[in-house]
Amino acid sequence: MSENLHQGCNGDCSSCGKSCSGHEPQSLIEPTGEYNNIKKVIGVVSGKGGVGKSMVSSMLSILMRRKGYNVGLLDADITGPSIPKTFGINSRALQNEIGILPAVTKSGIELMSVNLMLPENDSPVIWRGPVIAGAVKQFWHDVVWGDLDYLFIDCPPGTGDVPLTVFQSIPLDGIVIVTSPQDLVSLIVKKAYNMASMMNIPVLGIVENMSYVKCPDCGKEFKIFGSGSEDIAKELGVPLLAKMPIDVSLAQMVDNGQLESLDCDYLDNAAKVIEEL
Ligand code: ADP
Repeated sequence: MSENLHQGCNGDCSSCGKSCSGHEPQSLIEPTGEYNNIKKVIGVVSGKGGVGKSMVSSMLSILMRRKGYNVGLLDADITGPSIPKTFGINSRALQNEIGILPAVTKSGIELMSVNLMLPENDSPVIWRGPVIAGAVKQFWHDVVWGDLDYLFIDCPPGTGDVPLTVFQSIPLDGIVIVTSPQDLVSLIVKKAYNMASMMNIPVLGIVENMSYVKCPDCGKEFKIFGSGSEDIAKELGVPLLAKMPIDVSLAQMVDNGQLESLDCDYLDNAAKVIEEL
């Protein structure tokens, strides 16, 4: 029991003569390291894995960097890290007396991922939840990010232990929810939205990924997974920031570690909303 709480305390100071502060709600937000000055922190979340959350985190980082901002990308998807590969980074993280140094991509985005710490790229992370959550906090606090205009956090999917740690301990300025259209008919997006709302984190909007495929011959668009994002965005009262197609060239750029050479406007509107935050 907190030393401020006395026995029998029901949290209502008007019910007894004593005045205490032990039941005041306490923020679990943790400060970043003393060498860091991070202006805006944006979480990219999804209800489940494989919908393109890392793709969207990476693309938004690239777009904001192109606008001239100092950008960092924290890969909090500890058990499924894919960010270093997307940027063709195979090096290991270095450390000096003030902290862990992020890797820097060709265009100058600062990256941190557990993959930069593993002996091999394909080494598994066989850690329990609290250890994983601790690694995320360490990336927030111990990495020498320096001066950043935007830090994007590629959150682990779902609403479990680690996403909860991110939401509770890192001062997020807003989140972007990534989904594929078939998710939208389920409750998954709403769960992510509700978790953010319960923690007073603004939801900047929804990115619908894998919305359609464009026929390379006739240009016709096929909605393979259906649609429905407008309805859910309206229901939740948040903007639908983008509808991004399945684009083979994007998948190839990721596989080749060259996403920074991307040339498309799918997420321009989402980047604009983040810039105006
Ligand atoms: P998540 O982070 O949600 O698990 P990823 O971003 O890793 O998902 O995406 C899963 C796979 O799908 C990756 O191989 C990625 O390159 C591919 N992918 C994601 N979005 C697209 C897209 N719009 N077009 C083509 N491939 C995509």
